[in-house]
Amino acid sequence: MLEFDRRHLWHPYASMTEPLPVYAVDSASGCRLRLADGRELVDGMSSWWCAIHGYNHPRLNAAVSEQLGRMAHVMFGGLTHAPAVELARRLLAIVPGPLEHVFLCDSGSVSVEVAIKMALQYWSAAGKSRKTRLLTIRGGYHGDTFGAMAVCDPVNGMHERFTGVLPAHFFAERPRSRFGEGLGSGDIDDFETLIGRHHEEIAAVILEPVVQGAGGMWFYSADYLAAVAQLCRRHDVLLIADEIATGFGRTGRLFACEHAQVEPDILCLGKALTGGYLSMAATLATARVARGICANGGLLMHGPTFMGNPLAAAVACASIDELLESPWRVRIGAIEAGLRAGLGRYATHPAVTEVRVLGAIGVVETRSAVPVARLQEIFVRAGAWIRPFGNLVYLMPPYVIAADELEVLIRAVGKGLDALS
Ligand code: PMP
Repeated sequence: MLEFDRRHLWHPYASMTEPLPVYAVDSASGCRLRLADGRELVDGMSSWWCAIHGYNHPRLNAAVSEQLGRMAHVMFGGLTHAPAVELARRLLAIVPGPLEHVFLCDSGSVSVEVAIKMALQYWSAAGKSRKTRLLTIRGGYHGDTFGAMAVCDPVNGMHERFTGVLPAHFFAERPRSRFGEGLGSGDIDDFETLIGRHHEEIAAVILEPVVQGAGGMWFYSADYLAAVAQLCRRHDVLLIADEIATGFGRTGRLFACEHAQVEPDILCLGKALTGGYLSMAATLATARVARGICANGGLLMHGPTFMGNPLAAAVACASIDELLESPWRVRIGAIEAGLRAGLGRYATHPAVTEVRVLGAIGVVETRSAVPVARLQEIFVRAGAWIRPFGNLVYLMPPYVIAADELEVLIRAVGKGLDALS
């Protein structure tokens, strides 16, 4: 199997001719992945922010099975169904601000495309057809499709590979003020200058609130986010919050916008939306945005084949119910304390420049880029599933992780760091 995989299957951000090793998983349950060779690993990644309740969860399994007995999928054009309606009902009850309308699509990247499209259509319908560009902050990540790629960080994103193809947007300096600090002097200046100078061309600001994920695992000041929201209002620019990674509790609040009491005009959700079971994302909009787009017979021009997929919507409902009925704040608080104490031990390690923790996210930044394959082998030998990138070794376990499992992950990180120095 591994040999066939190596020859024929593309993995994320990978070479087909010189692929890094992959590990075959046979099954997963709770916070454990069972490899095909019988080894069991504690999961430190939640399958990239998704599996917040762990794997093979009885309630989520039941939701999928029940829905499967009714229908796996039907088109959403001209039809609707209870799972989609119930999911929208649940989302609207918990998201920050007066969001009223839900577009259910297939993946995070697509939800970002839909958000961008909403913003462009909004201004076009308002007769401001010059407002076609976006403003964002450096160090962001919003997905791999072309619209989303164009707002990823221009240096560590994929811009140089697609020069001349991606639309040109505006990039403000990444905030230096850290999470937990106030807004540092001068920190918002670059953003303020750009929005002040170009607001007549800018349709929307898009950013990841408080936590920049795949662009560098950087936690920035909530006051910076609040200042951005104010500047958007002042200059009549829409605010798109990409909570695909941060949504559903990961940062210690249900949504990261809540750290700054910010209410976006458009919100993207994904990843943990279905508890890691199926691919689904959502783009939510306020009544103002929806009415603007639909004025004079306007239509939102998007409609994926698998829009509102019933299986995904049903498991998303179960995942949200499970989360809200669980002591998630207490669990995330305990993970945060465990990560602070555990990873904090490595702050003075010679291979480490910084350790930072927020909610159920723990990050160890190393002096130089890590050898992924070699570190992963060490982690697997230590019984942990951890996937570093660049100079970041990070943990974001399922919320249900036990203290001794978290310790397995933390010890594994230590072994990996020792191999670097
Ligand atoms: N936005 C953010 C903040 C993300 O972290 C990701 C995924 N890493 C995406 C968008 C894209 O989501 P997907 O991979 O589901 O297309």
